[in-house]
Amino acid sequence: MISPPTALVFVGGGPRTVGVIERLAANSAELLGPGELDIHVIDPHPAGGGRIWRTAQSELLWMNSMARDVTIFTDDSVKMQGPVVPGPTLDQWIAGDGAAILTDAGLGEQARATGPDDFASRQIQAHYLQWAYQRAVAALPAGVRVTEHRTSAVGVTERKNQQSVLLADGTALSADVVVLAQGFLDRYPDSEEIVLMAAAAANRLTYVPPGYTADVDLSELRPGEPVIVRGFGLAFIDLMVLLGEGRGGWFTDNADGTLTYHPSGAEPVLHVGSRRGVPYHAKLGYALPGSTPAPTRYFTPAAVAALGGNRRLADFQTEIWPLLVKELAAAHYRELFSAHPERTLVSWPEFSAVIDTADVLSQEFAEQAELAVPKQADRFDLTSIDRPFGGARFDSAERFDRALVQYIRSDVARRADAYYSQDAAVFDALLAVYGVLAMALTSGKVSATDRVRFAEGQFHGFFSFLASGPPPRRLAELLALHEAGLAHFAGPEMQVGVVDGAFQAGSPAFPGVIRARALVDARLPRPDVKVATDPVIRGLLTDGELAAEHLTGPDGRPLVGGQLLADRCCRAIRQDRSIHPRRFLLGPSVSGSAGAAGFARPGFNGPGFRQNDAVAREILRLLRVPGHSNHEVPTATYAFAGTKENYHAS
Ligand SMILES: Cc1cc2nc3c(=O)[nH]c(=O)nc-3n(C[C@H](O)[C@H](O)[C@H](O)COP(=O)(O)OP(=O)(O)OC[C@H]3O[C@@H](n4cnc5c(N)ncnc54)[C@H](O)[C@@H]3O)c2cc1C
Repeated sequence: MISPPTALVFVGGGPRTVGVIERLAANSAELLGPGELDIHVIDPHPAGGGRIWRTAQSELLWMNSMARDVTIFTDDSVKMQGPVVPGPTLDQWIAGDGAAILTDAGLGEQARATGPDDFASRQIQAHYLQWAYQRAVAALPAGVRVTEHRTSAVGVTERKNQQSVLLADGTALSADVVVLAQGFLDRYPDSEEIVLMAAAAANRLTYVPPGYTADVDLSELRPGEPVIVRGFGLAFIDLMVLLGEGRGGWFTDNADGTLTYHPSGAEPVLHVGSRRGVPYHAKLGYALPGSTPAPTRYFTPAAVAALGGNRRLADFQTEIWPLLVKELAAAHYRELFSAHPERTLVSWPEFSAVIDTADVLSQEFAEQAELAVPKQADRFDLTSIDRPFGGARFDSAERFDRALVQYIRSDVARRADAYYSQDAAVFDALLAVYGVLAMALTSGKVSATDRVRFAEGQFHGFFSFLASGPPPRRLAELLALHEAGLAHFAGPEMQVGVVDGAFQAGSPAFPGVIRARALVDARLPRPDVKVATDPVIRGLLTDGELAAEHLTGPDGRPLVGGQLLADRCCRAIRQDRSIHPRRFLLGPSVSGSAGAAGFARPGFNGPGFRQNDAVAREILRLLRVPGHSNHEVPTATYAFAGTKENYHAS
């Protein structure tokens, strides 16, 4: 009897799936046995870019990574078992294979204006990912067929060891192996959002809850009316772009490098605030020559493994955070002392010895830094970097506005100026630190609660604020909108409520409140799989086939932000703590999934690449074993070292 082809089903056709298919192709010569394989990719959006990186979105929306810093292909820096298959970074692709594709798509002019140091539009990135997907599919060996299903998956069931993936169009796909790579999961509104929605309905107000800005309905934000915006990160930048240029306004360049905004008259007036009350730091406008991932000196895998003594878990606040900050401070001063010694008063060996033993968060270290580095602007002052207006008070909103304009101008100028190359060293160190932290998280060294509160909350917030900010041009646009009277600053520690039938916002930094008919929560919803709307995840959680973290704060109250549980090989963990050997979970909603925050930078041994390779190799092993669906096979060695978990595969 001829056995039917084996089937591998991906739910989600975004960058993560592209990465795993690329690795399947790379490893198949070594690991895929004879026989036929059917790969199904399910996504309502075109495979490659998926939902976030679809071609059908405003051409005004940009990436927030420079084109030279984005790659979907492995290089020699990636420490993995499978072979390296090099490919172009985004900027190389735009100038090479992508040129004709982008011209055909009507993006030729945009492409020619996008160099290595520019920020490509999301449409261009969508084409790059589509091309990478097609290249990966074409590299699969004969006998492997790939079928795209442009619809949603609505459920995954299992009978006699055979999984079945149900699609919204009624199709049921039989699957030997299922990969759930569904990205950011939409979720039901939380209690505060429900209250705001109800208040909006009762008072005829407009409330826009957190969401992916390109998918959000902004039509109720009326021309000329004030809109309170909560959130000053990248979702705010998207919002600003869609409500400004997106509504017909335009910018002209001035001789002094500033911009002037010419309104269309269709724009609302934005009042933006947040906890910090300032926009994310501008992306750096230069790179350190020969910048490569230097190994960390203090926050090393070995140091992390040793944390906690005999305890299995390390304490994030008292053990991990101080080490991590020391790494950043050391990178800052190492660069300052070597590139700008004239701005220091002692030798680097002397100061480096101080860092070795100091608590860099202490007052004593601040005093020693003051003696060694005379200029305040040259010191690594975590508090003023992280909370530039923390505790500041102003007489009026106008004075705060002026101070913030000044702050944004200096930030843009500093981040473009290699005179402050210590900032670039901190940026590189942050990437290195991120890799070590990812290892600590995936190895189970950090409790789920600490991960959500501190690694994803405190550290990721800081990382995004410092290293994942907008292109400098966006901040120049913000200043031009401010100048045109269309953007005002609502202050740090902004509080929002509904008072006398309108939304009201205020900040302790200055007197007075802002009242408005519309409020926008400009941020992505925090991943929380227990309240995900996705039917596949809900169904599997209900059936006990997936497990979600239960997180509680120190006061015993439940925390939001729980993720799906997976083992070190990314295999799904069920509620009874058994492992499903043929169901893989990847992406931002999965505990321990590496590289979920964004694209890897070339030459930086991206953890997402390592994980994709390990998962692809495991899948190929599963698929080549005769009668594989009933057998367990040897598990791939995952590149991250870590504690062994007490789960069992069944
Ligand atoms: C607005 C935004 C901007 C970003 N910008 C950057 C940037 O500039 N640089 C950077 O490095 N990173 C950026 N990121 C990070 C981004 O998460 C990653 O770049 C990448 O998209 C993650 O890939 P993924 O495949 O894991 O998830 P996604 O890209 O979210 O893809 C998941 C796919 O699964 C599909 N899906 C989900 N459920 C189902 C279902 N039931 N059935 C079928 N299909 C399903 C979705 O439609 C989607 O296409 C950004 C993220 C967001 C949200």
